[in-house]
Amino acid sequence: MKPMSIAENLKHIRQRIAAACDRVGRDPQEVALVAVSKGHTPASILEAFEAGLTVFGENKVQELKLKVGQCPGEIRWEFIGHLQTNKCREAVRHARLVHGVNSDRLAKALNTACEKLSKTLPVLIEVNVSGEAAKYGFRPDEVLEKLLPLNALDQLEIHGFMTMAPWSKAAENARPHFRRLKHLQQAAEDLLGAPLPELSMGMSGDFEVAIEEGATIIRLGTVLFGEQKRR
Ligand SMILES: *Cc1c(COP(=O)(O)O)cnc(C)c1O
Repeated sequence: MKPMSIAENLKHIRQRIAAACDRVGRDPQEVALVAVSKGHTPASILEAFEAGLTVFGENKVQELKLKVGQCPGEIRWEFIGHLQTNKCREAVRHARLVHGVNSDRLAKALNTACEKLSKTLPVLIEVNVSGEAAKYGFRPDEVLEKLLPLNALDQLEIHGFMTMAPWSKAAENARPHFRRLKHLQQAAEDLLGAPLPELSMGMSGDFEVAIEEGATIIRLGTVLFGEQKRR
């Protein structure tokens, strides 16, 4: 069977986003799609860009840097993975949003990198809602107390939260994790007395459930680009 084009995949994804929004009375405009292009070629990125996507996510600084040089300048790049503190400067140079601020140390390193580059950086705080040992992120029971010191870092603007649900064949299993992040968002807004509007949650296997639970950013790789080629 001929693989579907990226444009066809995108059309189908948009229908699924609209249907998920419809089920819970949300406006599809409230859900931003980050095209996760890690492991995919600049040619595929161009194809996705021409199909109408403008925001792309990478999880390795080196790959991000290469692609910024090889892809259309209109693309907005976001950093979605675990960022090492010694790569912060390059990440701040190229990404306009960092999804996974997952430790005090990383937050401070990002803040310092921003100071050196005279930039402010929108960030999302990563929460390990499921508590899996292999996952990065603040524990749900510590994130609220971390919020004030993180918010005091002058160069970082906290826009909300990000999480990854545990891998599962059934998307429905992700629902309690997404719901927990939504509750944390509400508690955090009460604490700060300011909106933290973004919730980055939902990937290829569970984005519809994430939308039903309030995601404002979904991060899609496989459903859009197909499986990653071995590198
Ligand atoms: C790879 C990745 C995604 C996309 O995963 P798919 O299942 O391919 O859609 C989303 N978020 C993060 C943090 C990732 O590393």
